[in-house]
Amino acid sequence: MVKRRKSRQVKVGSLKVGGDAPISVQSMTNTKTHDVDATLSQIKKLESAGCELVRVAVPDKEAVAALPYIKESIKIPLVADVHFNYLLALAALDAGVDKIRINPGNIGDEARVRAIVEKAKERNIPIRIGVNAGSLHKKYRDAEEGLAKSLVNSALEYVAFFEDLNFLDFIISVKTSSVLTTIEAYELLANRVDCPLHVGVTEAGTLISGTVKSAMGIGMLLREGIGDTIRVSLTANPVKEVEVGFKILRVLELRHIGPDIISCPTCGRCEVDLIALTKEVEKKLSGCKIPLKIAVMGCVVNGPGEASEADIGIAAGKKEGLLFAKGEPVKKVPEDDLVEALLELISEFEEID
Ligand code: SF4
Repeated sequence: MVKRRKSRQVKVGSLKVGGDAPISVQSMTNTKTHDVDATLSQIKKLESAGCELVRVAVPDKEAVAALPYIKESIKIPLVADVHFNYLLALAALDAGVDKIRINPGNIGDEARVRAIVEKAKERNIPIRIGVNAGSLHKKYRDAEEGLAKSLVNSALEYVAFFEDLNFLDFIISVKTSSVLTTIEAYELLANRVDCPLHVGVTEAGTLISGTVKSAMGIGMLLREGIGDTIRVSLTANPVKEVEVGFKILRVLELRHIGPDIISCPTCGRCEVDLIALTKEVEKKLSGCKIPLKIAVMGCVVNGPGEASEADIGIAAGKKEGLLFAKGEPVKKVPEDDLVEALLELISEFEEID
């Protein structure tokens, strides 16, 4: 059982982050934000996958102009990601976004950051202080104390600045592309602040590499109780970020959304095409939010045991499988009909529960 770090709560539109709120899963679009149709289409897919907060890049005035149209057509809170240009940040706040993400270090002088904070305060909009190794202020980049400490010191400087302005509506992230440095930075930061923490390993890579790095980095921090909202960073379709995010939370038993599929690696004893079968089950259940444990097992060695432990299971035999529901064998089904039979059981299960 994970004991979560105590953090104060910040509201991002309708979403509560921190405190006793569930750890939320967020993502970022990779469309051109000014292309409203493409951006909305991607956000709709993210919403269907369960995404709870979406960030869009705001690199120019055209992107700012698109924000109100995007905002009015989506259900989840919208975050504007702004770098370098404080006027774009001010305009994004006026455009009605639910949160703004800045790295104060690349916004420029204090007066510009102050202007953003004052506007956010006036509009009651939270800010994420997103300190990233790749865009760390020069004075911290050159420090000799090590990257993790430099990231935290940089974040703490902004915290002091925000607090001096009597603005407490902020969330912090201190990301790097190194799993170990990221963990070290968040551990240091978690002891110094009580605001919610947005946790992630940045630029984590493609689907497999990024999933492993995120599962390790985010997962180890969450296990320590650190993290109020997560973003899995993948060089892939952002929908995958959401799927992986929920799987991380599911594995740590922090949230129970969607099925947990237990399947064996197969071996020479297996007499069905279990890899194809499991892929098909996973594909068919991709939008399913029912928190079921489903076992798809290749033979009688571990199959009946795992299948009977799961809510629903298959223990495969020779070109057929024995279906289990709630620990009891239900019926034998030919290999070709196993997926359909399993889905039928799942729909019944939904009714039973
Ligand atoms: S369950 Fe059976 S088929 Fe699957 S890995 Fe174990 S022994 Fe092999």
